[in-house]
Amino acid sequence: MSKAAYDVVVVGAGIVGAACADELVRRGLRTAVVDREVVGGGATAAGMGHIVVMDDSEAQFALTQYSQKLWQELRPELPDDVEYEQCGTIWVAADEDEMAEVWRKRDYYEKRGVPTEVLDTTSLQSLEPNLRGGMAGGLLVLEDGVLYPPCAARYLMDRAQGRGARLHVGSCVARIGEGRIQLSDGQEVSAEIIVNAAGACAADLTPGLEIKKRKGHLVITDRYPGFLRHQLVELGYLKSAHSVSADSVAFNVQPRRTGQILIGSSRQYGAEHKEADNGILVRMLQRAQEYMPGLTPLSVVRVWTGFRAATPDKLPYIGPWPADKSLFLATGHEGLGITTSLGTARILADQITGTRPEIAVEPYLPSRIAKEHAHA
Ligand SMILES: Cc1cc2nc3c(=O)[nH]c(=O)nc-3n(C[C@H](O)[C@H](O)[C@H](O)COP(=O)(O)OP(=O)(O)OC[C@H]3O[C@@H](n4cnc5c(N)ncnc54)[C@H](O)[C@@H]3O)c2cc1C
Repeated sequence: MSKAAYDVVVVGAGIVGAACADELVRRGLRTAVVDREVVGGGATAAGMGHIVVMDDSEAQFALTQYSQKLWQELRPELPDDVEYEQCGTIWVAADEDEMAEVWRKRDYYEKRGVPTEVLDTTSLQSLEPNLRGGMAGGLLVLEDGVLYPPCAARYLMDRAQGRGARLHVGSCVARIGEGRIQLSDGQEVSAEIIVNAAGACAADLTPGLEIKKRKGHLVITDRYPGFLRHQLVELGYLKSAHSVSADSVAFNVQPRRTGQILIGSSRQYGAEHKEADNGILVRMLQRAQEYMPGLTPLSVVRVWTGFRAATPDKLPYIGPWPADKSLFLATGHEGLGITTSLGTARILADQITGTRPEIAVEPYLPSRIAKEHAHA
């Protein structure tokens, strides 16, 4: 049998595919990446770039905490245009019920070594004077940060190419499987292993994969240096992120190094067109203004949308696809793929190279949904 052209071909040059390629080539594998568009042009270009530890489940916590640590290690090497800032997150509690959630979250993080500070009304107001007065308080998570996702993806891909990875952009993949990648123009490439990192489109290439597109809107303002200092998220955000059907909005704002303010966020299923939806945009901005009335007169310079790759259990798929021994998945990261790209790359490469991972991989294995494919 002739040798495959590559050890690994990664389909998708978003931040997840770029991170995977970088890690795989670092481990000595002959690696190529194929994307129908450009590096970091999909959900990665649309994402907010909040590098955040989340505690929805132990598995989500483990992957986000591990990944954040990897970002911190990488930080000294990141070029300026990645704009990594460890600004911290403040989870804003509007009332005493939400303050109870602040204390629960603080205990959870404290037990697991995540530094936090509980803020009362006055300390919250002094840290973020543009928040509406009278908020009950908040939780400051000190090591959370922000970055500019397209440049982070570009950096990881450049580094992968510097280590010998090949990049093919402008090539649409029509089919993958059995060690073959078929392009839409009919060309074929062979690989021992194929990694499906096609984000919200991953299920087009791997039928049976349960991924739904979850649309989000973001707005960016003109430059207002000093207006906002931390990433601010309402505690009600959790309700929005958890909702499995209804359209939802939540107050979620981010300070950019440029002085611009990124305003989110929205979540919608079943809205697969790229155009901004005025109804949900108005709801999102009204929510932001309720929390920060001072946003109202600021000039908006751009609005855009993107699609998160949502899975039924809110965890990504990282590992082998049971129905095809040449196929691995690195997708389904919903609203956390910028954060978890580095952890994903490590545990994917560990599985491919038979290395012991630093965190348990079982919660992310695609076999959790694909048992019927494995036994078909
Ligand atoms: C509004 C919004 C806000 C977000 N905020 C955050 C945040 O603050 N923090 C965070 O961690 N995450 C956030 N996310 C999530 C994050 O953006 C994604 O999880 C992440 O970008 C996913 O990266 P990816 O590489 O898997 O997918 P993508 O970036 O979508 O990359 C997939 C690539 O695959 C390519 N592709 C697809 N199909 C094919 C094919 N057939 N042939 C060839 N190429 C193909 C596409 O062109 C694309 O480049 C947000 C997402 C949205 C939409």
